[in-house]
Amino acid sequence: MQETLDPQDWDQFGTLAQTMLSDMLNHLSSLSEQPAWREMPTQVRQSLQQEPLPLTGQPEAEVYSQFLEQVRPYPNGNLHPRFFGWVQGNGTPLAMMAEMLASGLNPHMAGFDQAPALVEQRVLGWLRELMGFPPECGALLVGGGTMANLIGLTVARDRWLDGQTLLGNSRRPVVYGSSQTHAWVTKALRLLGLGSQTFKVMACDSDYRIDVPDLRRQLQRDLSEGLEPMAIVGTVGTVNTGAVDPLNELADLCADQQIWLHLDGAFGALARLAPKLRGRLEGLERADSLAFDLHKWMYLPFECACALVRDAQAQRQSFGLEGSYIEPETRGVIAGGLPFAQLGVELTRNFKALKVWMCLKSYGVEKIGRIIQQNVDQATYLAEKVASHPELELAAPAPLNVVCFSYPGVDNRELLTRLQISGKAVPSGTTLNGQFVLRVCLVNHRTRLTDLDLLLDSVVALGQELRLESS
Ligand SMILES: *Cc1c(COP(=O)(O)O)cnc(C)c1O
Repeated sequence: MQETLDPQDWDQFGTLAQTMLSDMLNHLSSLSEQPAWREMPTQVRQSLQQEPLPLTGQPEAEVYSQFLEQVRPYPNGNLHPRFFGWVQGNGTPLAMMAEMLASGLNPHMAGFDQAPALVEQRVLGWLRELMGFPPECGALLVGGGTMANLIGLTVARDRWLDGQTLLGNSRRPVVYGSSQTHAWVTKALRLLGLGSQTFKVMACDSDYRIDVPDLRRQLQRDLSEGLEPMAIVGTVGTVNTGAVDPLNELADLCADQQIWLHLDGAFGALARLAPKLRGRLEGLERADSLAFDLHKWMYLPFECACALVRDAQAQRQSFGLEGSYIEPETRGVIAGGLPFAQLGVELTRNFKALKVWMCLKSYGVEKIGRIIQQNVDQATYLAEKVASHPELELAAPAPLNVVCFSYPGVDNRELLTRLQISGKAVPSGTTLNGQFVLRVCLVNHRTRLTDLDLLLDSVVALGQELRLESS
């Protein structure tokens, strides 16, 4: 007998599939009645950890029941309106359906000049336009900000190498960025064979923005010592506080000194979609390369980010690939070659573009911009409430959508852990000026002002509890 993995009985499978869909929609529509996070019971944890390799199959419906009992209740919580930790997007029901359609159709997105490729090309055209980049610049959808940043920095390195290799090369490159630069940068430098010590950490001003005059002086010192400035990494929305580096000043400096300007706009670049916020990002469109996530502040499900590189030719030189088995033809299936595979690391790519296309078309850029603005207004509301609260202390300016604060006089690490375990709300933590603080990041389209009130009430109650315990 010859076998296949398609269902034996399509009708029966269809019934199960309908159940999966309606269960998931029920889950999404009742999020606010669920806790923001649940600790996993030991026996569920052990059951998942100890399952033996399944040599023979079991009915799909049984596997699905296990998903309902053991997996669905225990994710990290980022869909919930009171999840404020790290920078984690939420996803939308429409995007979920788009992912199903994309993986049902399952096209190979190395290129292949058919409808899915045209959808990705159109989406990339829209994203260039949103970021103020020219239509001819290189653009690619990738898995996340880390990968999008790696792509930008790879092209920067190759331009700097100018055809040389790193082996036996005694030139000494330097990449500059502020102390608030995300950790992707040192990982990327290690992957690029330059080593993390290539990254020079520059000081920030009191608003956590890179100190450009100081950077200018450092560049001069390094040049006089024979070092070679390779790139400056600016951040558009730092993880810790949402600070935006002075983009025009960085672009001027890079133009002066002929240095590559790479901008990490993982979440912050999306503020360009909100008309009132756009002015704060002026200069972003001058970068040589820009990375931004769509799975954070564009509310799409994981994974999806975009890399833009002004010089598409240089990007193709860094990432191009050839092989007799993938030679382009003028007609037939491989007509047009594999353009996406020539712009990034991956050859086989999924159809992420479909969720971007469907969501942009159905919501419209203006609505997404309004929700981004709503998150910034929520951050301002929270920062003001904290600042005027007698028992709380604002730890840093909140220029965008991140608010850092503490309950002074108690162990804020313990306070945060208790708050998370209570399931009431999930901020994350960070250290600013040597002090551990709570960090609330608003990239959630489901959050309401009442959720922020509940957060503050919970923090104050836990702060009082901890103060009593220690007295
Ligand atoms: C999230 C983030 C990254 C990394 O992006 P991923 O999508 O998690 O890979 C880089 N920089 C900043 C500023 C971020 O917020």
